[in-house]
Amino acid sequence: MVARVRTVLADVHPDDLGVCDAHDHLFLRSPKLPGRELDDVPAARSELAAFRATGGASLVQWTPYGMGRRTAELPALSSATGVHVVCATGLHQAAHYEPEFLDAVRGRLAHVFVSELTTGIGGSGVRAGLIKVAGGFHALDAHARWTMAAAAEAHHETGAPIAVHLEHGTGALDVIDLLCDELGVPPHRVILGHLNRSPDGVVQRQAAEAGCYLAFDGPSLAHHATDWRMPDAVKALADAGFGHRLLLGGDTVVSGARSVDGGPGMPYLLRRVRPRLVAALGAELVGHILTRNPGRAFAVDWP
Ligand SMILES: [Zn+2]
Repeated sequence: MVARVRTVLADVHPDDLGVCDAHDHLFLRSPKLPGRELDDVPAARSELAAFRATGGASLVQWTPYGMGRRTAELPALSSATGVHVVCATGLHQAAHYEPEFLDAVRGRLAHVFVSELTTGIGGSGVRAGLIKVAGGFHALDAHARWTMAAAAEAHHETGAPIAVHLEHGTGALDVIDLLCDELGVPPHRVILGHLNRSPDGVVQRQAAEAGCYLAFDGPSLAHHATDWRMPDAVKALADAGFGHRLLLGGDTVVSGARSVDGGPGMPYLLRRVRPRLVAALGAELVGHILTRNPGRAFAVDWP
């Protein structure tokens, strides 16, 4: 059996992913971001086409359960643009949901994750290819511990990778303690996101040494204060021998951030981030970070 990446259209060989935006969003809705939803199908199609036009071949949407994923739209968007799309199950921080919504999944969260990974999301028939969860600011609250326990259970049943939103880039070591040490998830199946938001090179190095994937994403207006440190952080990790653990994404979260709405959007990854990193790391390693690493990070020997 060869491990495959579960896209919205089919399970594909990791070598077929091509240049991958390993953390982004075509659709996202949250009570925390009123009026800034990513909820427009034509805009999503245009943004994905713009990414394709800059050389992008695949994209991983980290939007979890209950946050307006528009899963049923994804196969047609993938077909229309020729971009492989991987979508997520999982659960974000409690603040992104109404309390009643969370009450409704209490006691059956792992089951929801497994069924979205293996059977499909809603009635769409589209299956998720990863589990997205979230930590808190330098800590894990009861909600984070609950969702990570469910994610670990779903991982053990399916092999799916677990992608983690680190709040302001913090809490990586707490997440590793919980997911890997307590709950037995192999570190190479954990992808830590938003590390650029907390430019602590020591913690980043420790997370890489633990064996996790480190995802750097953005830029975003909200994290401009630290985004500029990303090339140095990536270079330090690569120089320390962790180039094979690095991932890159655009993480377009709000409508104004899309390139079709005047922001950097998905094309920025290849238009500006790639040449900036090529200057620091060389073309070969940056090529691996954009192609081979996502292939390994998201490929699963699905049951
Ligand atoms: Zn994200």
